[in-house]
Amino acid sequence: MSSSFDEAAKREAVRLATLQDLRLLDTPASESFDRITRIASQVFDLPGAAISLTDSDRQWFKSTVGIDVASMPREGAPCAEVTDTRDVLVLPDIDKDLDYRDTPLAQAGARFYAGAPLLTHDGLAIGALCVTGSEPRQFSDAETAMLKDLAAMVMAQVELQHAYGRIDPLSGFPNRTQFVEDMFDLAKTEAPGARRLVVFVDLASPSEINDVSRVMGSSFLDEIVRDAAQILRTVLGPARTAYMVGASQIVFLAPPDAEEKTYLGLLGTTLSAIRKDASSRFVTTVSIGVASLEYGRTDPNDVLRLAHCAAQDARLIEAKVSFYSSEQDALHRRRFEILNAFGQALDESDQLRLVFQPRVDLATGACLGAEALLRWIHPVLGSVSPGEFIPLVERTTLAKPTTSWVMNAALTQLAAWLAQGVSLILSVNISAANLSEPDFVERVAGLLAQYGVPPQSLELEVTESAVMEDAEHALTQLRKFSTIGVRLAIDDFGTGYSSLSYLQALPVDVVKIDRSFIASCARDARQRHLVETMITLSHDLGYRVVAEGIETRETADLICDMGCDESQGYLFGRPMPVAEFDAWHRLNRDQSKSAVEPVFMLPPRNRAKRYSSHRAT
Ligand code: C2E
Ligand code: MG
Ligand code: MG
Repeated sequence: MSSSFDEAAKREAVRLATLQDLRLLDTPASESFDRITRIASQVFDLPGAAISLTDSDRQWFKSTVGIDVASMPREGAPCAEVTDTRDVLVLPDIDKDLDYRDTPLAQAGARFYAGAPLLTHDGLAIGALCVTGSEPRQFSDAETAMLKDLAAMVMAQVELQHAYGRIDPLSGFPNRTQFVEDMFDLAKTEAPGARRLVVFVDLASPSEINDVSRVMGSSFLDEIVRDAAQILRTVLGPARTAYMVGASQIVFLAPPDAEEKTYLGLLGTTLSAIRKDASSRFVTTVSIGVASLEYGRTDPNDVLRLAHCAAQDARLIEAKVSFYSSEQDALHRRRFEILNAFGQALDESDQLRLVFQPRVDLATGACLGAEALLRWIHPVLGSVSPGEFIPLVERTTLAKPTTSWVMNAALTQLAAWLAQGVSLILSVNISAANLSEPDFVERVAGLLAQYGVPPQSLELEVTESAVMEDAEHALTQLRKFSTIGVRLAIDDFGTGYSSLSYLQALPVDVVKIDRSFIASCARDARQRHLVETMITLSHDLGYRVVAEGIETRETADLICDMGCDESQGYLFGRPMPVAEFDAWHRLNRDQSKSAVEPVFMLPPRNRAKRYSSHRAT
């Protein structure tokens, strides 16, 4: 007994949820429904007709003719009986009907009622299409059939409205809204916590979409989507659907029993099918991300985001199919957070500052200049290393304002040192993006003039890889800098790919050997040999050589013996805030005064080991 009661309660809950999903309750009148109630009233020659929806405790009228109320209690409403029985109900004379003669309908003057259920495809009744009269009346079988037909027309209209704006016209697949709703619906019928794999097919990366649209027109992207939809339809079969969740992104559910590893292989086959047959095959890279959804626990919007992340990660691997990984996701989130926060930091006055790391002559230990290094303290994230944020910033439009910020701060400092009679060369790191700015050289020249700093006091550090991104253009820019007298340095030398022919053509003054080579020098004979070769090569090309990252006296001795000119490393001084740097520099100057020979006149190779070590701060 109680189990059939439970069954009925469950059925009613599903029915009510379906009704809610249709989003019809409490919506304004609509002509497409009013047309049907008007026809009903006319064909049966009756004054009243209504489309009446059965909510939990009320009958709500979506459309009425000759009935003045917007709703009535569910209890005692004949339409509620139609919903419950899912069958036609005819009350030829309400006054004589024991169940209905004392109900609001009878009190409103109705003597006749006929109602047909509004049935969904799944056989759920959401309400009734009814007609009413003020006189008793008979209702023939033909009229019953006609009322049922009109009820079916109401439902066709309901479903049409529901589908509108939910089907992607290009692929013919339901859209993202529908995916989210379907997942919520599935959660009602599946066991809570049951898992299902969600497959996210990304047909092209954003930059590919850009390129394709620019070169082939946006209709080509439409063609890619249509092709992929067709292939997926074949792969999935008639019983399963896919969803179009973005301009070039399709999602579908794996079969309930899919086992992760085997399924990944199967997806590889799907991917090959798309690649082989689709018009996208030459121009875009299709990638697939998979994430798992737990019914009732995972928000369907979240699972889309996770699967999308996985599809993005998949772009970076050979197989182009990847499972969602929480570590990767945390990384993406952190990157996103950092970029977002850094954009704000550039506008704030208290988050960014420069620190200065001395560059010393290896033979004498005299400070020749410093490198300006950016420091960022975010109020929530704390101190974020430039090793983390600079590579992210450099890939975005923030690269240019960042260099502007650094350049202004560096030139302010140089001008202050000049005013104090301190003559130092200050190095500033610039990004590949700066080299592609058409007016970069002019802007720097303008700033030098504005701050009254001679160009020879400024050195720009650029990495090999930044130069090689667009070597011809970079070369032109660097030559212009050289012409106006700004010094140039190749940073992190040895880590990037560079061509010797370009290297010798670069108008640079300094080569800074990356600290990864310097650190292992003391232990590794091959590494030592490599560094020695780099130094010789750079000297042959006419560059001064700086060894980055010297931390021990032993390494300093070694590198000095190899003929290296300058060094920058913790052994001599860490990157310091300006006040600390100034104190360090005063001390260094006092010690250097005792040096016998002028630092710059020594030939590179035969220098005496006369550098003095300074405590790393
Ligand atoms: P970089 O230009 O090669 O700067 C040298 C880095 O090596 C600095 O790291 C410095 O603190 C570190 N370093 C120097 N001597 C030693 C040593 O003896 N041992 C060790 N372990 N490290 C040493 P930092 O300040 O963390 O900067 C990292 C990178 O971030 C820089 O490498 C540069 O590429 C970038 N960066 C920093 N500031 C800026 C900036 O203002 N603009 C741009 N575009 N990039 C910047
Ligand atoms: Mg540098
Ligand atoms: Mg470096």
